[in-house]
Amino acid sequence: MIFLAGVILTALAAIFVFMPLFTEPKGNLEVELLAETELDRLMNRKAVIYSNLKDLEFEFAMGRLADGDFRRLESGFKMEAAEILQKLDQLGIEENLDDGIEKAIAARKTALAAGSGPAQSHCPSCGAELLPGKQFCADCGRRL
Ligand SMILES: [Zn+2]
Repeated sequence: MIFLAGVILTALAAIFVFMPLFTEPKGNLEVELLAETELDRLMNRKAVIYSNLKDLEFEFAMGRLADGDFRRLESGFKMEAAEILQKLDQLGIEENLDDGIEKAIAARKTALAAGSGPAQSHCPSCGAELLPGKQFCADCGRRL
């Protein structure tokens, strides 16, 4: 019986503590604060993803990442970025937030196109075979 009373008390305490988390915010101020927090979170997340994408490009350029791994990770980051952009859109943020990603995609396409020519098939320094899209020789590290 004492045990049961304890359970009921705990349950009541839990309801009292967690209830505010599930109730809808009423005032405009609360809605604005909520939106601002969500905006901060999304903006931070976006910055992290952009930084991850940069690191990824660098690692790939240095030849430390396989082509498949690079594409898998890159598309993962971009899908997450797209989700965030969609959420920002729902929050009514009027900014060209996808400019950075568009530029990154364009740069990558340019690099791939430039690297696919026959002139870039071998490193001019050490003669090692090069994969298209690399900015550095995987063998000697020479910038291409
Ligand atoms: Zn080389």
